[in-house]
Amino acid sequence: MPDRYAVIGNPVAHSKSPQIHAEFARQTGQDMVYERLLAPTDAFMATADAFRARGGRGLNVTLPFKGEAFRYADRLSEGARAAQAVNTLKFERDAIIGDNTDGAGLVNDLVRNLGRAVAGARLLLLGAGGAARGVIAPLLEQQPAQLVIANRTLGKAQLLAQCFRGGVEAGTYAALAGRRFDLVVNATSASLVGDLPPLPQGVFARDALAYDMMYGRGETPFLAFARGEGAAVLADGLGMLVEQAAESFFIWRGLRPDSAPVLKLLRANEE
Ligand code: NDP
Repeated sequence: MPDRYAVIGNPVAHSKSPQIHAEFARQTGQDMVYERLLAPTDAFMATADAFRARGGRGLNVTLPFKGEAFRYADRLSEGARAAQAVNTLKFERDAIIGDNTDGAGLVNDLVRNLGRAVAGARLLLLGAGGAARGVIAPLLEQQPAQLVIANRTLGKAQLLAQCFRGGVEAGTYAALAGRRFDLVVNATSASLVGDLPPLPQGVFARDALAYDMMYGRGETPFLAFARGEGAAVLADGLGMLVEQAAESFFIWRGLRPDSAPVLKLLRANEE
């Protein structure tokens, strides 16, 4: 019997994770299957328990269950604790291990795939929700020169910054006027509804990279704005998706797949 894994979410039909993990398994010769698991919004734990009882070895967790998965795990990695969210569950014989690979996914995409150092960079993170929280600790580990969080609701950005003891500055969008950043990461859900966070003009430094965590929507309003403002490189979140999957695969199987051909394949499918 092959080992069983799945992505659990609601909705989950759109998830590219089964395709990504099937490629990783093929590449590394692992005998495993990876499914989609739709959980009713009020039954995450029962659905995860039933999957585990049927022999499931691990789950990727997507919206809206990352907070519940955090509470469901018996043991948490440092990354999951910092994020207060879990996107990877590993079922061991007597324990459920919770981890969060989203931040490592973003850093690996920036550094390896896009060739941009986070170390020493002036970094602006837009949004103060789950996606932003999940990437702050791994970004800080890279030692950026600055990490500023801008959010519509200032109090949420301030609360989030306080969790990271002085390494992070919080502010409004308006307060960004006159400042310049080398990396600008959109971790808001504005792109989901075709919206643009209210960024002032001039925040992109000459060689800036604009990164939208959203993917599969073509050029989002944020990326279009960045292009108009002269950002040198535009990137969507597909690379982050593949890289966080590679980290999960490593946690489960102890093997590091080659993410580059898988990202290339997904890009080709998009066209
Ligand atoms: P949350 O609902 O937790 O947070 C949403 C954030 O977006 C809040 O900070 C909110 O501000 C802000 N926001 C929403 N609408 C607007 C707007 N019109 N203008 C400005 N700010 C806005 O969502 P998540 O953090 O979970 O997810 C954010 C995005 O990240 C999603 O689009 C998701 O798809 C993507 N993502 C991508 C991943 C990948 O692998 N590529 C992984 C994880 C997430 P306020 O507090 O003021 O309401």
